[in-house]
Amino acid sequence: MRYYSTNGEAPIADLHKAVVKGLAEDRGLYMPEEIKKLPKVFFENIQDMTFQQIAYNVASAFFGDDVDLDALQDIVYDTLSFDCPVVNLKDNIYALELFHGPTLAFKDVGARFMARLLQYFIRMEGKEQVNVLVATSGDTGSAVANGFLGVDGIHVYVLYPKGKVSPIQECQFTTLGKNITAIEVDGVFDDCQTLVKNAFMDKELNNHMKLTSANSINVARFLPQAFYYFNAYARMKAMGKADNLVICVPSGNFGNICAALFGHEMGLPVKRFIAANNANDIFYKYLQTGIYDPKPSVQTLANAMDVGDPSNFARIYNLYGKSHEKITSLISGATYNDDRIRESMRECHHSCSYILDPHGACGYQALVEGLKENEVGVFCETAHPAKFKEKVDEILGIDVEIPERLAAFMKGEKQSVAMSKDFVDFKKYLMAR
Ligand SMILES: *Cc1c(COP(=O)(O)O)cnc(C)c1O
Repeated sequence: MRYYSTNGEAPIADLHKAVVKGLAEDRGLYMPEEIKKLPKVFFENIQDMTFQQIAYNVASAFFGDDVDLDALQDIVYDTLSFDCPVVNLKDNIYALELFHGPTLAFKDVGARFMARLLQYFIRMEGKEQVNVLVATSGDTGSAVANGFLGVDGIHVYVLYPKGKVSPIQECQFTTLGKNITAIEVDGVFDDCQTLVKNAFMDKELNNHMKLTSANSINVARFLPQAFYYFNAYARMKAMGKADNLVICVPSGNFGNICAALFGHEMGLPVKRFIAANNANDIFYKYLQTGIYDPKPSVQTLANAMDVGDPSNFARIYNLYGKSHEKITSLISGATYNDDRIRESMRECHHSCSYILDPHGACGYQALVEGLKENEVGVFCETAHPAKFKEKVDEILGIDVEIPERLAAFMKGEKQSVAMSKDFVDFKKYLMAR
């Protein structure tokens, strides 16, 4: 498969290059030149297939030209060692629980898939070690660190702002050891991101070691999220509920919903999509006005969706030939402030006995308000409520149980390298490695 850049000024890349580079030379996002439709017989039998089997079929259509099929199957099966159930909350509203991966984040799938795909390409190339740099304000760091843990040939450096990530999140990437090094930066998230960007631009450093990023705009990180939607469709079809399906995705950087839309282009029978936002309503406003007007993000309860300039907008825009009309005929939007999020969490807990996290609450509420007669709605519950325990406990007046898997991280010993926010120090550290 050939990949072009959404900015149209960079050379065409193959999958290998698109995965290693992440962003194209013109700072655009890589898009596949064609999206293959899956055969009719696949959809006829999908309800009898496992998550792994479904995902392998989808992955073959996307990556099968560039990756040996046995290796691809291995990568997919290793990535999806858990299930993502759909749970009926009430009437025609279903929650698709995307938080059953190793760090209880839906980002686990993209992170693991990318780690294994990168390893596959490194092995083909030779022995040179690749170093992944990732700046995090919390969730991305834990998903990437756990996805790459123990993958040989790759070393990961997670840069995070000292004192600014939650204790649970910090444990998820500082207790791992092996090929994961946590770097505690005396600064804020933006300082971490600046250090990473400077490292990629530094010639001397790039001659010394091979550097790459595990940014969420990487094709190997966002595309595998399409697996979720084919699997959800299969589970709904098995229940006889898949005829007028509405998929609702709580969105921040729009990678997850973008993967769902790619799935739709591959033939996934979904009637329409809803992008649910918190108070960061840039996409919502675009749908209403046709004008995309990015703004600095505002802080909300659903902080993984605090994005003021969603990167994957460019992908969605290109996918539909830059047509506002096409986009609005398939996708609608919703936006909720923190008060509304709290209210939805309480209402859902009361009427469905279900504990939503603040992100999932946006998706739930958009279906409560937007579902039409005869439609069946599935929204993504993107995080386990225990990941936002302090907030959820306070809003619902309960004591959310911390799952064993999450608690296990907290028992490990925290190890990190203290770093100033001065690039000279960071470079010196890496040059000595
Ligand atoms: C990352 C994240 C989102 C937003 O996903 P995008 O792909 O950036 O739109 C929503 N909820 C949670 C819990 C997340 O971690």
